[in-house]
Amino acid sequence: MHTVPPLRIRQVNQAPVQPGGDYVLYWMTAFRRVRSNFSLQRALEHCRELNKPLLILEALRTRYHWASDRLHRFVIEGMAANQQAIAAAANPGVYYFPYVEPAHGEGSGLLATLAKRAAVVVTDDFPCFFLPRLVKVAGRQLPVRLEAVDSNGIVPLRGTDHAFTMAFHFRRWLQKNLPRWLEKSEFPLADPLKRCELPTFEKLPASITKEWRPADLAKLLAPGGLQALPIDHSVLPASIHGGSAVAETVLKEFLKHRLARYADERNQPDANAASGVSPYLHFGHLSVHEMFTAAVRQEDWSLDCLAKKADGKNSGWWGTSPPLESFLDELITWREIGFNFCTHRPDDYDQYESLPEWCRKSLAKHAKDARPNLYDLDQFESAATHDPLWNAAQRQLVREGRMHNYLRMLWGKKVLEWSASPEDALQTLIHLNNKYAVDGRNPNSYSGIFWCLGRYDRPWAPERPIFGMIRYMSSENTARKIKVKNYLREYSEYSE
Ligand SMILES: Cc1cc2nc3c(=O)[nH]c(=O)nc-3n(C[C@H](O)[C@H](O)[C@H](O)COP(=O)(O)OP(=O)(O)OC[C@H]3O[C@@H](n4cnc5c(N)ncnc54)[C@H](O)[C@@H]3O)c2cc1C
Repeated sequence: MHTVPPLRIRQVNQAPVQPGGDYVLYWMTAFRRVRSNFSLQRALEHCRELNKPLLILEALRTRYHWASDRLHRFVIEGMAANQQAIAAAANPGVYYFPYVEPAHGEGSGLLATLAKRAAVVVTDDFPCFFLPRLVKVAGRQLPVRLEAVDSNGIVPLRGTDHAFTMAFHFRRWLQKNLPRWLEKSEFPLADPLKRCELPTFEKLPASITKEWRPADLAKLLAPGGLQALPIDHSVLPASIHGGSAVAETVLKEFLKHRLARYADERNQPDANAASGVSPYLHFGHLSVHEMFTAAVRQEDWSLDCLAKKADGKNSGWWGTSPPLESFLDELITWREIGFNFCTHRPDDYDQYESLPEWCRKSLAKHAKDARPNLYDLDQFESAATHDPLWNAAQRQLVREGRMHNYLRMLWGKKVLEWSASPEDALQTLIHLNNKYAVDGRNPNSYSGIFWCLGRYDRPWAPERPIFGMIRYMSSENTARKIKVKNYLREYSEYSE
């Protein structure tokens, strides 16, 4: 029986299914979890149809941009959690192969070698960073059918037909179209491995596991375990830990203890009222479907609670309490508009030219304005500006791999103001965000960064130096609006 909505399945190449193959291969790259995952569900559909066992390959390369101890450790912790969950399922028809490339290029050939013995390969369809290119190249090289499956959001990537340029328009579209994607049949199975009878997986030939040794995850996670890898060791592991089990705890804690304060206190750095789930969403340790289900269950919510309106406003539609409504607007409207943009603008979602024309015109008009404070990338990176609040936010990013949302906006706006040009500002923001933030390299990274330059926004009067009609923010106003005393103390240069 087919249970994955066809709109979520993309056939990447024209190669045939090989019914004589030894197994179905799930090449896990973005939805790094075994729960609530359409890709895994699709791979299991093939297993049942072809009567094959399942091989799950979760691999980690060394040569991706910004590879560091911070990102590697988070991903490897996720692998350890997957290994544990698959072992607990004790299904002889499922074999998990974690692979961490020990040196540049050593992983080359592994996918192709495993695919040669496969009946069909299923992978994750993530619309950002190097993954779309990787899947495209694999599609050309693999001798069997490659399918990319979309488990990114509540709305399938191909559920829209154009890129939305304003959150208001996207929200109005959601108010008309989202109910269809909230039906139970459009949600992934919570536990696809449960009660799944498959033929036993026969061992992989030693020639394969000798050339590409399955990763010793415990060794890699032990102190000094990442030292031999050719990645950036100066970006230290974050204080948060990766993996689906941790992610579920973080979500539960938020729903139980902080959601009630979300609408009122989300913007207060000292209040710790946000969920902290973005790193888990980014690496696929948590699914948005599970988050949504857990959040609305708290209020006995059903589809009938939705107001019958499509005015694009961010309140009065969900029919939930105000904190939950505010959370759902971030989790769905703001999160998914980024996925929508990357899907429909694959070639330029990260390029300056993708900004709306009014932004580029307004910034160009002010390109030659005097810049009383001017910093280069090194000064920004080492938090050496004149502004204590900006420096504190940058230190939080470098130290912890995260930054409070409200300060993230200020942080981006100030880089625009203090850079030689808006193009330079964009490069600085992309580099710092993606190098240090655990949740970086995501469609939301580009939404947030480009928002600072005007994407999804409208012109704001009065016209100002440097910014033109782009919305302006100042540290002084921010400090007046939000409480930052503890924040400043915590991230002052003396508290390293
Ligand atoms: C300059 C800048 C850079 C950013 N870079 C990233 C990034 O690299 N990765 C990233 O996930 N988000 C990024 N954001 C968006 C936002 O700051 C984070 O999603 C949010 O702070 C994550 O914390 P949380 O999980 O506690 O969010 P919560 O407030 O608890 O929200 C829950 C989820 O909703 C989504 N969400 C919330 N706010 C936004 C938003 N403004 N835009 C898009 N989605 C949102 C996220 O998936 C988030 O995890 C950036 C914003 C700015 C201004």
